[in-house]
Amino acid sequence: MEAIDQVKFEEEAMPIDVLCDGCEREITVGETAYVDKEEGLIYCESCAHNKSEN
Ligand SMILES: [Zn+2]
Repeated sequence: MEAIDQVKFEEEAMPIDVLCDGCEREITVGETAYVDKEEGLIYCESCAHNKSEN
């Protein structure tokens, strides 16, 4: 199982509803999202997993 890259992504509970920048799935308030600190984009767990694979 691929781990989420903790250097690239910051795990964060969303204070508001947002859309995943990868798949446009809604991430609802309080749900954990993964913030790409370099690009300033927000991803759901499954997209963060995908983007952690190299
Ligand atoms: Zn996504």
